[in-house]
Amino acid sequence: MSLLDVRGLNKSYQTDAKVLKDIHFTAETGEFLSIIGPSGAGKSTLLRCLNRLVEADDGEVIFDGQDLRQLKKKQLREARTNIGMVFQHYNLVPRLTVIENVLHGRFGYKSTFQGVLARFSEEEKERAFYLLEKLGIEAHAYKRCDQLSGGQQQRVGICRALIQDPKLILCDEPIASLDPHSSKIIMDYLKSISEEMGITCIVNLHQVEVAQSYSDRIIGLNDGSIVFDGSNLQLDQIY
Ligand code: ADP
Ligand code: ADP
Repeated sequence: MSLLDVRGLNKSYQTDAKVLKDIHFTAETGEFLSIIGPSGAGKSTLLRCLNRLVEADDGEVIFDGQDLRQLKKKQLREARTNIGMVFQHYNLVPRLTVIENVLHGRFGYKSTFQGVLARFSEEEKERAFYLLEKLGIEAHAYKRCDQLSGGQQQRVGICRALIQDPKLILCDEPIASLDPHSSKIIMDYLKSISEEMGITCIVNLHQVEVAQSYSDRIIGLNDGSIVFDGSNLQLDQIY
């Protein structure tokens, strides 16, 4: 059984135009899957329908054996602890420190606030530090995250997504706002967690070359439909 099995997903926003049209695909444990396509293709909507930040109109999102679309709020919250998310614009809380932002990933946005590091256990803080070290930003742990560069902020975003030991992480254009050096650090790290920790990574990208050099598999999305689903080599034959 695949870790993720998406079946017949459709989505329209207020207007009639369908942004997603009958989307079917699967993702396996530890797989590095890129979704490519031009701006407006529906990549961001698709990713957000997977963890229900956006509600699809119909279809199934079977993750780890259960259809997330059928879950009630409480069960969904529980299931989402296994799904981390990384955003193009990081979506950190600017007035909080780096480590507080990382720990947020564990307790949600409402349950922590400034200066309340004390409410986290030593073990939780150690886990946050471990991740910050892995990404080479532990020296910034007590800085406000708005003092960090974009590349550093995205590394914080990745630590936040990983703090709960997810099985899947969804990355929506994680390098679109970054310089090449920072982009490489981020992509190398995402690749390493899929290979070494068996975390499935689904990454929206608009650069085909980046998708090709990192992915096990690539899905091409255009105007809300999947127009390609295959390996790098197969993609080579098209472009
Ligand atoms: P991509 O990530 O590939 O650029 P998006 O999923 O962001 O594509 O957008 C797909 C289409 O849906 C676009 O036409 C966009 O304008 C539209 N769209 C995205 N989010 C919303 C929204 N919240 N309300 C209305 N239309 C939206
Ligand atoms: P990011 O790429 O930083 O995640 P976007 O700029 O794609 O953010 O979108 C920001 C928000 O605006 C998202 O919640 C998205 O759903 C919404 N959005 C995107 N396109 C439209 C649109 N055409 N109409 C309304 N809302 C939109």
